[in-house]
Order: sequence, then C-alpha cells, then structure tokens
Amino acid sequence: MLSFFQVVIWGLGAIPLILLLVVLAAAVVGQYSLRKSIQTASTSPCPKCGRTVGREAVFVAKEAYAQKVREMMHQHPGVKFRQVAEWQVQCPQCGFTFYFYPSSNKLEAVSIFANQRVQRTAG
Ligand SMILES: [Zn+2]
Repeated sequence: MLSFFQVVIWGLGAIPLILLLVVLAAAVVGQYSLRKSIQTASTSPCPKCGRTVGREAVFVAKEAYAQKVREMMHQHPGVKFRQVAEWQVQCPQCGFTFYFYPSSNKLEAVSIFANQRVQRTAG
C-alpha cells in the first residue's frame, strides 16, 4: 500500500510528465501535418507543365516562407501575425511559380492574396 505522502510525490512527478507528453504529442502531430503538406505539395503536378515538382522545390519554398516570417517578426517585434502560410513553389521543370497552402493542403496558380487585392473581372 502506498502512503498518502507517496501518492502526492507520484502525483507531483506525474503532472510535468503528462504535460511533457502533451507537448510532445502536439509536436508530433505538427510534424506529421507538416510532412503531409510537404508530401502533398511535392507530389502535386505543376499547373503549367503537369509534372510533379519534387521535394527539393517544396523545401526551398518552405524555407523562403519561414525566412519571410522571420523578417516580418524582426521588422515588427511583438506583433503577432495571423496570416495563412503560403509557400511560393517554383517548378524546377518549367520555372512556373505557383502557391501552396499547407494549412489547407491546396495548390493555387495565383496567390490567394493577389485575389484579395485585385478585383477580378468576370470570366
Ligand atoms: Zn512546371
């Protein structure tokens, strides 16, 4: 039988352990969804030439976006950006640039941000 004291000690030890597991689980899920996004993007056909772009181009695009975020945070310290991640992927085959959105795993030939700024005419 465990004494009350032993139960308390075990409890105190378990709480940080549970928190650590929760953090680890969140990190694993995050990594998994990122890997899924990279996988989806790299196997997606280029909107122009129809060939898959490959992991290399996707990693370059992902890094470029991370760099952009770092620069924005540096320019506006303390500001939290609520923006949709946009990977500007350049097709290594034909050089066409398209946009991949890891949050929705969707690929667009035109940036969704460009659509917001420019009013598109019918057609
Ligand atoms: Zn292409």
